[in-house]
Amino acid sequence: MNQCEDIIVKCPNPEHTKNVKQVCFDESCKEQRLYCHECIKIGMHVTHHQHQEELPFLFEHISRIEKESDDLINRINKQMDLIYNDFFLLIGGIRSKYQISKQQLLNLNFQQINSFLSQSIHFKQFELTIEKLLQELIKEFQDQIKKLQKDLNLFALDYDQISKSNIEKSEELYEIGYKLYWNDDKYEEAIQIFDQALDFNSKHQLSLWCKAESLKMLGQYHDAIVWADKALQVDLKHCSSLRTKADSLRGLNQYNESIVWADKALQVDPKNCSSLSTKAESLRMLGQYNEAIIWADKALQVDPKHCNSLFTKAASLRMLDKYNEAIIWADKALQVDPKHCNSLFTKGDSLRYLKKFKEAMEVIEQSLKINPNHFDSLRIKGECLHDQKQYQQALIFYDKALEINSNHQCTQNKKNECLKAIQNK
Ligand SMILES: [Zn+2]
Ligand SMILES: [Zn+2]
Repeated sequence: MNQCEDIIVKCPNPEHTKNVKQVCFDESCKEQRLYCHECIKIGMHVTHHQHQEELPFLFEHISRIEKESDDLINRINKQMDLIYNDFFLLIGGIRSKYQISKQQLLNLNFQQINSFLSQSIHFKQFELTIEKLLQELIKEFQDQIKKLQKDLNLFALDYDQISKSNIEKSEELYEIGYKLYWNDDKYEEAIQIFDQALDFNSKHQLSLWCKAESLKMLGQYHDAIVWADKALQVDLKHCSSLRTKADSLRGLNQYNESIVWADKALQVDPKNCSSLSTKAESLRMLGQYNEAIIWADKALQVDPKHCNSLFTKAASLRMLDKYNEAIIWADKALQVDPKHCNSLFTKGDSLRYLKKFKEAMEVIEQSLKINPNHFDSLRIKGECLHDQKQYQQALIFYDKALEINSNHQCTQNKKNECLKAIQNK
């Protein structure tokens, strides 16, 4: 704030020689809001002297408004997220009610088949109702949003005009920040530089995007989304920002939303490898393993050495009980990055399913050497020991895994099984 007190602004009245001393905060005032002592002498703002403040107060005011508007944006974003969540629950409900495989049908008893049939015969009616209702609600919602946009009256403002030299300064700073981000993995330092670039040009899209991307790399996914959204306000079709948003949503375990944004990136650039991979991985996390493999393959067509896609394919094959194939694809990922713990875990777990315990243990050890706190490797080491009836040892690793993620039900169950086995010995 001290810096602000030194700031000197000339009075906007061209006939005055003095600097601005005060600011008028009266709601209905129509005069120049910044004014000097000479202005006071000619009677400006005298009718509402209770709303006059010294110049430094202006800077407190703008930072307060910035914070309040950020808070508002966060709150309304959360409201939209709630709508999105409900919407995805609805979609999930439609899927589980009306979509059934031949095999699932054959597994039902006659009463269940009857009930499924009578529900599905009424599908058309349900379809009409839901479509009409949603169309009406969305139209009303859009109309209201458009009205609010109009009230913002953005076209009347010209404070967005940025001087050429400020644009150049922001470009230079961005280049410095990008090197820190890309070459040196120094994300915090990079963010500081991007902030400086944005002080010169608050709409510098690449700085907005790369700040989001750096936040994502730091695991600050919520903030990353806020900044990716700011970049998207400059250009709705900025592929990298769409991808950063998709990736961050995946980091927050919001897989359905992640796919929506990956699809938007793919509409702009259908061969964007990262977006293809993000979509594949989100599908895998939703348990749609066959679909996940289809999208991982698309990513691998663009870049056959894309490590995350190789891993997604391997892990999906493992979940489909295709252990030998899973090992082949995990090995391909490990050729690209020998320290990829998730791939080591996938390979180790597949070997375990194939009862090749010695090899499995070796691979898992490798993973734990790289990252002693790798959750999946810890729990699978437990299972591997458990399979070999080394119950006490297994217990140690179940506990280590549960220390990292105490809510993992499957590992909790395994631990209980293990305790029972020890009691019955
Ligand atoms: Zn004046
Ligand atoms: Zn006034």
